[in-house]
Amino acid sequence: MSGECYFCHGLVFDGETGHIVLDGHADHAVFLHQECAEGHDVVEESPGPSDEAAVLCPECGEVEVS
Ligand SMILES: [Zn+2]
Ligand SMILES: [Zn+2]
Repeated sequence: MSGECYFCHGLVFDGETGHIVLDGHADHAVFLHQECAEGHDVVEESPGPSDEAAVLCPECGEVEVS
């Protein structure tokens, strides 16, 4: 699955390092580059040893953990 970054409209690929796909939402999938997401302050690194990050969906405002 691939799509356009919500912020810069560059290509985002599912499974690629630094590429984020939010597809757990009802009627939309949102594609983000990690650096674009960080630049727009929608990524929250979770504390602890895991590398999971919580991402605030720019489309609907729901938080999704990738
Ligand atoms: Zn981007
Ligand atoms: Zn959403």
